[in-house]
Amino acid sequence: MADTLTGIGVSAGIAHAPVAWVTEAPGYDETEAPSADLESDGERIRQALNDVSGELLALAGSSPEESRQILETTASLAKDKGLFKACLKKLKDHGPQAAVHFAVEDYAKKFARLGGYFAERVTDLFDVRDRVIAKLQGKPAPGVPELTEPVILLARDLSPADTATMDASKVRGIVMREGGVTSHAAILCAQLGIPAIVQVSDANALTEGQMIAIDGNAGIVYVDPDEESVATLEERAAARQAVINEFSGSGQTSDEHAVGLLANIGTVSDAVLAGQDPNVEGIGLFRTEFMFLGRAAAPSLEEQTKEYTRVLRAMGARKVVVRTLDAGADKPIAFASTREEENPALGVRGLRLSMSREDLLDTQLQALAAADAETEAELWVMAPMVSTVEEARWFADRARAAGIEKVGVMIEVPAAALRAGRLARVVDFFSIGSNDLTQYTMAADRTDGVLAELLDPWQPAVLDLYAHAAAADVPVGVCGEAGGDPLLALVLVGLGVATLSMGPRKIPAVRAALAMHSLEECGRIARAARQADTAAEAREAALAVADPRMRAIVG
Ligand code: PEP
Ligand code: MG
Repeated sequence: MADTLTGIGVSAGIAHAPVAWVTEAPGYDETEAPSADLESDGERIRQALNDVSGELLALAGSSPEESRQILETTASLAKDKGLFKACLKKLKDHGPQAAVHFAVEDYAKKFARLGGYFAERVTDLFDVRDRVIAKLQGKPAPGVPELTEPVILLARDLSPADTATMDASKVRGIVMREGGVTSHAAILCAQLGIPAIVQVSDANALTEGQMIAIDGNAGIVYVDPDEESVATLEERAAARQAVINEFSGSGQTSDEHAVGLLANIGTVSDAVLAGQDPNVEGIGLFRTEFMFLGRAAAPSLEEQTKEYTRVLRAMGARKVVVRTLDAGADKPIAFASTREEENPALGVRGLRLSMSREDLLDTQLQALAAADAETEAELWVMAPMVSTVEEARWFADRARAAGIEKVGVMIEVPAAALRAGRLARVVDFFSIGSNDLTQYTMAADRTDGVLAELLDPWQPAVLDLYAHAAAADVPVGVCGEAGGDPLLALVLVGLGVATLSMGPRKIPAVRAALAMHSLEECGRIARAARQADTAAEAREAALAVADPRMRAIVG
């Protein structure tokens, strides 16, 4: 077999093609003199930001549905008044290019510290920075080169604009040196069916035109593979697909214990796609943050009602779990800001923000109730980042007063998981947010690739907390990344989880995994995993007890 590089597979499938590197951004000119004319340099930056926003919007207009919203969000970041003001401030000590560079850097730090959705938008901010600096230098926008033959794209991190503008028919696969597991690029690759791997830290060793093969399921890059290696890989992928294709229909174990297989979405267009996907039984997590991002004021009651109505309508009579705004108290949502925080991930975020800005929550709840009245979908509403019974009760009272019938909370703080039995007395359902639950249990920043091992959702301590939460006397779902891992799905169902929510393309593999096992077998797999001392041992222990065909599925 060939030499290999490893990362994290984010979109399954095999690809074999030469490498094409995405053009890196030019970077600011370090010899640039500080601004001698604040007014005219400020005007140049304003113009460049405007132009970039306009170009991104134009790209959005000619892009497929799944890219449009993303490009519009990036365009709105370029128009963010706070960002422009921050550039002007930096102009006092720098030239225009450096001013943009440092202003965006400060902004990005704030986004990253917020975690979750905002941390994933850091890539979009950097995209704006690179385009504006290239414009100030009179250079073309950095990004994907013109492709004349099938390639595997290599990039530090792919921006939404890159993914939207690339000729997908020539892109066989994507490898990123950085890139988040839940980044736009990863989500888009999965939607487009392009195999993709992120966090390949040694990717710089690969040169333009070099042949590689990638396994987007296992997260492995094969360097200069011979024909035999490629054939083996292709056989493995075909075997995986053949096992998955054996199963269809709704989610259930082999003894017909139903497990709802739901989709995670962030926009109306995601909902439209999910609504048309026969594998999707409903929405398990609608992240409503998208609508609030990069705006000067919160969307109005009417605007929100319209958006939620479109989402609910897209799902017919199916279930839709909506999460209320999960933002922090820092700058990105200027109208929700309270104060500067040293550690925003541990600060006024999620429900805590709603408790300090009741107006934002009440408008959202009213809009959801109004959308519910207009549509057939079964609306469930939940709060993010709940830590105590008091908080859960406060949210439930407020949501019910607004007319919401099914009220729940996310279990993503260890305190909530530990007291799940008591929380269950005041709400109707739980949804385990395994991404944050892992981050807070392991005290490891989820945006920091260096901590990937601690951030593994198979960490035994986190498995214990899933078990605690799943034992509560209310329906429990999982909507973090753990829910889309076919093997971990078996553990979760064995612990008592009723629904699993994930990127829609992950559903067939999870459905197949469930269909191969009875509920009792899932319980046995869960017990085996919880005996382990490490995440890797837990995974191995589960695999050892599972149906042998699972080896083909997890690679
Ligand atoms: C989670 O934390 O697992 C979750 C689903 O929420 P988010 O990823 O949006 O923080
Ligand atoms: Mg979360």
